[in-house]
Amino acid sequence: MRIARARPSARTRVKRIINKSAPNNWGQSKNSKRVFTLTPIILLCVLLLSACQRDEEQGAELYVFGTIVEIKLWGASAEEAGQAFMEIQQMFQAMHRDWHTWEPGLLVEINQAFADGRPATADEDIVEMVRRSQPLETLTGGRFNPAIGALIRLWGFHTSDYPIEGPPPSQDQIKGILEQQPSSRDIHINGLELSSSNPAVQLDFGGIAKGYAVDLTIEKLRSMGIDNAIVNAGGDLRAMGTHGDRPWRVAVRKPGGGMVGSVQVRGDEAIFTSGNYERFRQDQTQRYPHILDPATGWPASDIASVTIITDEGMLADAAATALVVAGLDEWVEVARALNLQQVAIVDEEGTVFMTPVMESRLQFTGDVEHVIIDLQ
Ligand code: ADP
Ligand code: MG
Repeated sequence: MRIARARPSARTRVKRIINKSAPNNWGQSKNSKRVFTLTPIILLCVLLLSACQRDEEQGAELYVFGTIVEIKLWGASAEEAGQAFMEIQQMFQAMHRDWHTWEPGLLVEINQAFADGRPATADEDIVEMVRRSQPLETLTGGRFNPAIGALIRLWGFHTSDYPIEGPPPSQDQIKGILEQQPSSRDIHINGLELSSSNPAVQLDFGGIAKGYAVDLTIEKLRSMGIDNAIVNAGGDLRAMGTHGDRPWRVAVRKPGGGMVGSVQVRGDEAIFTSGNYERFRQDQTQRYPHILDPATGWPASDIASVTIITDEGMLADAAATALVVAGLDEWVEVARALNLQQVAIVDEEGTVFMTPVMESRLQFTGDVEHVIIDLQ
């Protein structure tokens, strides 16, 4: 029975609620139709500076990370907005160049140095992602592990062309990588210099790059004196301030398209969703989604999507990936370890499990069967 699988401990209260819905009076964000999905890759193609005249909203769309990133500002002048969009475009170009997992660039050079047993000079952002990843790997019991790039490559997930056709790698190939136990904690940081005591470490920031990019974008806007903005990368987003005299309202995506509901953003928050439904390998019989369990080397399977709301994009992004790996039996344990308060999980049958705070904030779209899981 589904509820039993989700019951984490005797201390956890589980409440099943059916058919609770609230009216939804706003349109679905066009970005919730994800164009792609999430490579940490930044392909910057378009800057559509639309200086829209709707009230005091200024908007731009950038094609980055294989996704349309929509930026909306409230209360900034057209000049301030133009300057901000230009600088953000440059930031994204640099991220694409430096963080790409398989196109030649800084991260590829660093991974080559690790494989050769040499130190490498990184930049502040890569060092920051490593520094933040190390405790996140520990807290998630290794479920979030950005050092498993070799495994991700073995599965063929270093591509922008999905779905990938063909059978999975052999168990021997998987075992060959697992035995070397790559971990972000094998990396030593000395200023901007990184070295790895384990040649099997291959960094892949696909699980956090979008979160960090969104954080950096918000930071940049704030440094320019802009306090009301939303940065939406294909449904994964961070917002601050308000949209005039009302809060920003955003969609919580549903596996396979559409939305579970919407939330009003309070102050400065990030909302990220990870799922097993968009990027996968496929053979005659099965789908193999792109989020891998670092313990087994195989795709995580029984959760369709995880949505996290927290105050930081990088944490929300990493946590969403880790909870997909944790699965229905263990996500509560990992959510507690990360001190998350706002989590919604959709299982393969479409049942939604969520924490009380998440439930109090979600305005459901239509009737959604859901189960409340109290993490306290
Ligand atoms: P999505 O939003 O598409 O569901 P995620 O934020 O969960 O994606 O990131 C998935 C990406 O993270 C993969 O494409 C891969 O690059 C990387 N990845 C896969 N498994 C893991 C893992 N267990 N830990 C860290 N990164 C992972
Ligand atoms: Mg993630």
